[in-house]
Amino acid sequence: MKVLVLGAGVIGATTAYHLAEAGHQVVVLDRQSGAGLETSFANGGQISPCHAEPWANPGVLPKVLKWLGREDAPLLFRWNRFDPALWAWGLRFVANCTSARAVQNTERTLRVALYSRACLQELRDRLALDYDQRTQGILHVYRSAREFDQGCRAARLMNQYGLDRQIQDRAQCVAIEPALAAVAPQLAGGILTPGDESGDAHKFTRAMADHAARLGAEFRYGTTVTHLTRDGDTVTGTATDRGVITADAVVLALGSWSPLLSRPAGIRLPVVPAKGYSITLAADGPAAPTVSVTDDEHKMVYSRLGDRLRAAGTAEMAGHDPSLNERRWRLIVERARALFPGAGDFDHVEPWAGLRPVTPDSVPLIGRTRLRGLWLNTGHGTLGWTMACGSARLLAQLMGGQSPDIDPTGLGIERFKISL
Ligand SMILES: Cc1cc2nc3c(=O)[nH]c(=O)nc-3n(C[C@H](O)[C@H](O)[C@H](O)COP(=O)(O)OP(=O)(O)OC[C@H]3O[C@@H](n4cnc5c(N)ncnc54)[C@H](O)[C@@H]3O)c2cc1C
Repeated sequence: MKVLVLGAGVIGATTAYHLAEAGHQVVVLDRQSGAGLETSFANGGQISPCHAEPWANPGVLPKVLKWLGREDAPLLFRWNRFDPALWAWGLRFVANCTSARAVQNTERTLRVALYSRACLQELRDRLALDYDQRTQGILHVYRSAREFDQGCRAARLMNQYGLDRQIQDRAQCVAIEPALAAVAPQLAGGILTPGDESGDAHKFTRAMADHAARLGAEFRYGTTVTHLTRDGDTVTGTATDRGVITADAVVLALGSWSPLLSRPAGIRLPVVPAKGYSITLAADGPAAPTVSVTDDEHKMVYSRLGDRLRAAGTAEMAGHDPSLNERRWRLIVERARALFPGAGDFDHVEPWAGLRPVTPDSVPLIGRTRLRGLWLNTGHGTLGWTMACGSARLLAQLMGGQSPDIDPTGLGIERFKISL
């Protein structure tokens, strides 16, 4: 069948690849001049099933209250904006803050993330992909003994769901990543996830788009989608600034912009943008880490990409504004310099901001909608690259009527039954 994939981020590019591989005629539309130029451009670079713990959990609300109005908050809600979609999302977020929901959402995310990591490894071998990847695992470090305890509890839960996470003391953390030596006295401990990875998501996205194109997928860049076209309850294609394109099926993979396209067609997606920042700098020598590190206290991640170091973090719920707030990105510079002093030239960094497409339960939206022909692959939040390969393969299997490799229960829009 002819399938339109809307969006050429990491989700759209991997979806296009798997649909083309399954023999469909694929056309990908994106407003940018190439693949992966928005949220998939300069993210934290982690393939991190170890981050499957959802944002909504029993411990988060007191923290969010404490952080309210603080410009250096890891998670900052700007509630003063009147945005009904954000308030409706917030109610659902609160409803997901129970222990039972957090366990359920961890399982759902891990189901996709673990499958996805295996899919990525299989693709990397089969297609000989090269994207500055590192396969030394991810080390999560903690300064507070209380947070470390909580992290260990989450790690044990993830162990039960099949993710190998290993608790480390301070000396073991430094043995794994010697560049942590300078801050060792501050560390309460760490958790190593040896199977997790890192790399450059943009290079990966471009590679997947190239491989999809080799299989016959057509990428139409510089094309802005304006709305979905319909015949009753059937989606027939899309209207763009370059005319109408018809298709048998349409996949919404527009990241944070997916709800803007679906809402006029009557599908309200609980996806809101959470702005995050990264910096990239030239890095060399023993003071620069090679193992990907997550700093729990500041919710920051570090990935070595060849001769560069990427540091990323913070989340700000402030609408679709992609502009760079200098105070927020300078915070990333200061935190990176404090954790890895001497790792590189912190006075010359490339700052970047992207909008994570987050759902209230941190689980993506994968599968069909009540409109015939309209499919979702969106809402991957903080783990878009981690879950891209598995989400794409799963969706291609569902669209092709095949029995899927993993159980899709709880991953679709139908889990949000009440319309807010
Ligand atoms: C600071 C930060 C750090 C992160 N770190 C990690 C990490 O370490 N690991 C991880 O797994 N994930 C990470 N993420 C999350 C990850 O980057 C995202 O989940 C992922 O990039 C989302 O991919 P996507 O394809 O859904 O969206 P996008 O990459 O945003 O792609 C959507 C595409 O749709 C296009 N588009 C939108 N509207 C239209 C329209 N109307 N017409 C045409 N085209 C349109 C855009 O141009 C864009 O190319 C991070 C995100 C941020 C911001």
